[in-house]
Amino acid sequence: MPPVSDRVYRIQAPYDGNAVHLYLVRGDRLALIDSGAGDSPSTAVEPALRELGLSWADLDYLLNTHGHADHAGGNGELKASAPQVQIGIHPADRYLLDGPQAHLNSPTDSSAVMRLLGRDDLLQQREAVLRRVIGRSAGVERELVDGDVVDLGQDVRLTVVHTPGHTVGSVCYFWEAGGSVFSGDAVQGHGWRAGMPPIYHDMAYVSSLERIDSLGANVLCMGHTFGWQGVLNDPVRRGAEVVQTLKASRDASAAIGRAVAHALQQLGPAASFGELAEVAFRELVFDLPILFDRASPVPVVAARAIHAHLAAQGWAPPLAEPAVAAQV
Ligand SMILES: [Zn+2]
Ligand SMILES: [Zn+2]
Repeated sequence: MPPVSDRVYRIQAPYDGNAVHLYLVRGDRLALIDSGAGDSPSTAVEPALRELGLSWADLDYLLNTHGHADHAGGNGELKASAPQVQIGIHPADRYLLDGPQAHLNSPTDSSAVMRLLGRDDLLQQREAVLRRVIGRSAGVERELVDGDVVDLGQDVRLTVVHTPGHTVGSVCYFWEAGGSVFSGDAVQGHGWRAGMPPIYHDMAYVSSLERIDSLGANVLCMGHTFGWQGVLNDPVRRGAEVVQTLKASRDASAAIGRAVAHALQQLGPAASFGELAEVAFRELVFDLPILFDRASPVPVVAARAIHAHLAAQGWAPPLAEPAVAAQV
């Protein structure tokens, strides 16, 4: 297991033909940033603890960066192995821990975007994926909001930085003394798979990038190997790479904004979401390393950010979680 520093270890957990990256952070107490999918605690976290001469009994905190299945799907399995663990998540993403149905009902889930695109034929497949990767439910011991501190002892104090956009309750954990930020999916470069743009449903994603930039961290520990300069790299970026990854993320978002403006200009505001998204996605080829797929003129993962920019440009209201957002 590759150490990031003398206090941080990265755990690579297989996910959907790729991987999600979890981080063990060690002060006097031990925290795990994200649990991965339902099988990650047994297949990835347990062997990692063993490698460090630790066991489930040594783990004090599970801190979720957000409620998506690849980051919190393993919460219940982890809690079953380590009942003493305190689980922390931002209150706005807490509802996603209720199980697959909570995701299927969410207006920002892929399933909602499939309906918007008129691709109801994909819904069954989405449901099957969610039921496969989300494990049993677990509770939450600590609701974490902006400015909260999880003190692990020694010099390891993790400050919660609310960075919405990818989900409404996305947070980063900032270890100031170590100059490190754990960003989950709040920084996505050009996207997590070759050919796929970043995933966000709200333009708050861009202001969150500014917020992360302002922390001045020199180590960025991300949840996936988000693309940067057209290639997939290590999920941990250091020094100048941090600045460049943040710049790549902003540039990708600006490119989507231009593509959406182009689509609105070409088709006019009376066009359907599917028509606008298809023209915008095709326009992106000039700025981002995207891939076309015969099965879907607009890949579902690309459509959420396109919708966010259409909303920002006045075409439609944003995808929102009104009942949840009121609690933020
Ligand atoms: Zn996510
Ligand atoms: Zn993710």
